[in-house]
Amino acid sequence: MKRIVILGSTGSIGENTLKIVEALPGMFEVVGLAANTNEKRLLEQAKQFNVKATVLAGKDGQDALCELVSRPDIDIVVCAMVGMAALKPVLAAIEAGHDVAFATKEVLVAAGELVMRERAKAGVRLLPIDSEHSAIFQCLQDSRRLPWCVEKSGATPNAVETLTLTASGGPFEGRADVDFERVSVGEVLDHPRWKMGRKVTVDSATMMNKGLEILEARWMFNVPVGQIDVVVHPESVVHSMVTFVDGASVAQLSVPDMRFAIQYALTWPERVASGMPRLDLAQVGRLTFRAPDEGRFPCLRLAREAAVAGGTLPAVMNAADEVAVEAFLGGRLSFAGIWRTVGQVMAAHTVCACGDLETVVEADAWARRKAKGVIECNE
Ligand code: MG
Repeated sequence: MKRIVILGSTGSIGENTLKIVEALPGMFEVVGLAANTNEKRLLEQAKQFNVKATVLAGKDGQDALCELVSRPDIDIVVCAMVGMAALKPVLAAIEAGHDVAFATKEVLVAAGELVMRERAKAGVRLLPIDSEHSAIFQCLQDSRRLPWCVEKSGATPNAVETLTLTASGGPFEGRADVDFERVSVGEVLDHPRWKMGRKVTVDSATMMNKGLEILEARWMFNVPVGQIDVVVHPESVVHSMVTFVDGASVAQLSVPDMRFAIQYALTWPERVASGMPRLDLAQVGRLTFRAPDEGRFPCLRLAREAAVAGGTLPAVMNAADEVAVEAFLGGRLSFAGIWRTVGQVMAAHTVCACGDLETVVEADAWARRKAKGVIECNE
């Protein structure tokens, strides 16, 4: 039995993780659950899965989360919290020597260098739950290409030429008629393929999600940003692919359902039957791909800028985006205001090196203040 703790258990990834636990009886024991504010649902889950340790982060605080993931009786921590609030608990889980199944991309975006260094020190694994990164992880299953095997030889995975992240493009892909100054919260949250939390759904519509995923992949797989491509693929059947130096590309396909990625992270290196729906390519009929429109979706360009500059700039971009998305969801900022805000905050930032926790936390706090100021001034 694998003993798991789920941070963010009442969110979309958390609920889907529990569905997998339920679908695979005898494989997992849930030893801890944490949610942010939804106490009622947290207690229901604790009762159903007979979990003794629960934390309500909104009430009990971050230290309680860190304490929960530091327990010795854990095999894997599922990190499905939203945003930078997950950073300290992730570091605590790593320090305690636990593998982390990882959905909170913001943490790797803002503090990738720090997290990967601590991970290597502790000798633990970071198993991707983001569907694109799970796909790449699955494409790299030749054990010599796995990040924690590669680092033993000190080499980068040099047989990898490019990682290609697929993007559904969100609800506005290919719709030149949509006015981004006026589009409503409801239209943005109506994602055509994936049912996800609100933050990631807005990020998906601006394509910031793909920008964050470039940085996530850069750290998770130790591949330079210049070797990470994005292609728009509205059907969301090909979840990403790897092209090797011999020109061969390996891709991973399934119907779009986040349980595939979660289950793989939890059962790796095994594959287990759990009654998931099968892909019927004849029924799908056609898969389409096109280059992203960075003029219309500037977040992708901003993310590349942040990735190339490195240092504190990715943390700043991430924090500004979190604040701007929240303002958009609260009706205080237009949809286009999201990337204008992020761009202005990034332009105002003086980049410095970013290897320790204080620098990350400071850059993050600075960007949040700055973004709030920009939003108050402009909108
Ligand atoms: Mg994704």
